[in-house]
Parts: sequence; C-alpha cells; structure tokens
Amino acid sequence: MSEQIDGGCLCGAVRFVASGTPTDVAWCHCQSCRRHSGAPVSVFVAIRRDAFEVTKGEITKFNSSPGRWRGFCARCGSTLTCEGVSSSAEVHFHIGSIDNAEQFAPTRHIFPEERLPWLHLSDNS
Ligand SMILES: [Zn+2]
Ligand SMILES: [Zn+2]
Repeated sequence: MSEQIDGGCLCGAVRFVASGTPTDVAWCHCQSCRRHSGAPVSVFVAIRRDAFEVTKGEITKFNSSPGRWRGFCARCGSTLTCEGVSSSAEVHFHIGSIDNAEQFAPTRHIFPEERLPWLHLSDNS
C-alpha cells in the first residue's frame, strides 16, 4: 500500500498530506499520551518526516518532556502529533487525525506497563 494519506484536525484549520506507507502503527499506553489525548489509549501512525507536509494552518507544539513535542490544533484543540527531537526520522500522528483511519490497524503496543487495567482489547497482545 503506497498511496496518499490525508488528515487534519476537527475544525479543519490544520490539514496535512503524506505519501507512502507508514513505518509503524502502534498503540501507546503511556500516561502522557492519555493526558494529551484525553483517551484511555492512543494509536499512532508513524510517518517519515520527509514524507508529509502540512498543507493548511500549522501544528502547534507543546514541549511535554525533554526532547518530546506534542502537536495540536490551536483553534479546536485536536491532538495531532507526537515526535522526538527534530533529528528523529518520523513524526507520529494520532490515528484520530487520519481521514482513513480504518486502513491503519496497530500491530504492537508501546508502554504496556502503563496500560489501564480495565482496558480490554481484542487482539490478545
Ligand atoms: Zn482545529
Ligand atoms: Zn505515549
């Protein structure tokens, strides 16, 4: 699968487009992602930094811990991205920001030790 990936925030002020295949799709159970997203677990689609561009508005970034930046829409508050220092090769997009989210099933779990005990997922991993 190598096609265009479109996405954006809830209000439409921010839009982005990516090409190619995500390098990773993963659940993240860490508490920082919970706080940022408001959701019990996050799913991230990893896209190479050179494979996407913001086509409308801008992703506002919050420095949540040393070297880690969390992106959101300054107008509607939608969570959009999580990324390491700018030298890292990928930006992780929250699955909710992707238009065709159904195409990107997560394949692994990050920070499983921080997973909420009452959260049951059907993949048995
Ligand atoms: Zn917005
Ligand atoms: Zn996380």
